[in-house]
Amino acid sequence: MAENILVIGGGPAGLNAAVMLSELGVNVALVERDSFLGGNPKKFKYKFLFPDMQPADNVIGELIKKAEAGGSIKVYYSSEVSDFKENGKKFDVTLKSADGSETKTFDSVIVATGFEHFDPARDAKYSYQLFDDVIDIKDLERMMGENNFVRPSNGKPPKKVAFILCVGSRDRHVGNQYCSRVCCTVSVKQAIEMREHFPDCEAYIFYMDIRTYGFFEDLYWQAMEEHDVQIVKGRIAEITSGPDNTVICKGEDTLLRGPFEIPFDMVVLASGMEGGPQSPEMSSKLGIELDEHGFLKPENITLSPFKSSKAGIFLAGACTGPKAISDSITEGAAAAMNAYTYAVKNR
Ligand code: SF4
Repeated sequence: MAENILVIGGGPAGLNAAVMLSELGVNVALVERDSFLGGNPKKFKYKFLFPDMQPADNVIGELIKKAEAGGSIKVYYSSEVSDFKENGKKFDVTLKSADGSETKTFDSVIVATGFEHFDPARDAKYSYQLFDDVIDIKDLERMMGENNFVRPSNGKPPKKVAFILCVGSRDRHVGNQYCSRVCCTVSVKQAIEMREHFPDCEAYIFYMDIRTYGFFEDLYWQAMEEHDVQIVKGRIAEITSGPDNTVICKGEDTLLRGPFEIPFDMVVLASGMEGGPQSPEMSSKLGIELDEHGFLKPENITLSPFKSSKAGIFLAGACTGPKAISDSITEGAAAAMNAYTYAVKNR
């Protein structure tokens, strides 16, 4: 008899876990709180993925197609786990949606509930709620995805755009001391995309440190050498309104050691990644540990990063900390193998 495994979360990690398990002949219940699969890449209409500018649909769309193709994956849209009980080495789980609820026994569980973007409105210096032309990386991703790259204030294409890094990350004042790992690369990718499609628009990136780790460093050099993106080491202290419907970034160039005030048509905030409300919710419902940053805590971050603090429950993707989509997809596969092994061992 085939194993039954529950996957919670239909983003890149959960999708890949479900698809891999179904290829092993496992019956998978894939539970997604939204009415669609694909997680944040789908919700915010990501267009291209770094490092190779591959269309997001080629990656995420392909996984969604496989998950929705039927077979041994049953997708529960707009659904959540409403009750969770251990039953020996198995789990009795109630899944609830607007249509009712259903209780099933699962051999193992994968949690892949992902992340939420930091809300820049929580830090007043960025004036995110004050000015229409101050947006964040997910807003820009959606604009690019909808082929609607215009200033929200007047519907006209911007001529000068600033990207501000480390918004809501590496900042003890907002409670997030960690680095979100991908926002440097996402911002550099977005600046390249912008310069390629709108060459009349100047791009400035204000950074504390550039952390385009590993091979993503190629994008950093491309941005400067091939696309004339201005990369400035500086901290932004304040964003105010300027003449002619501009927004002014005030700050300090920390290399030249001098203050600056530069008017822009649009400012893009590189808002970081947080565990969001789903992580504490999973922690209390499933009885698994949360870390000090609000992400789900693996049993051993080095040796068993896919195992939760409870036997039979596995973790994948950004629910354990900031990471790139490619890493989340890899973790989905690893969690699938771990969940399958646990299920077979405890038949
Ligand atoms: S990846 Fe870059 S922008 Fe994001 S928190 Fe780290 S240093 Fe800041």
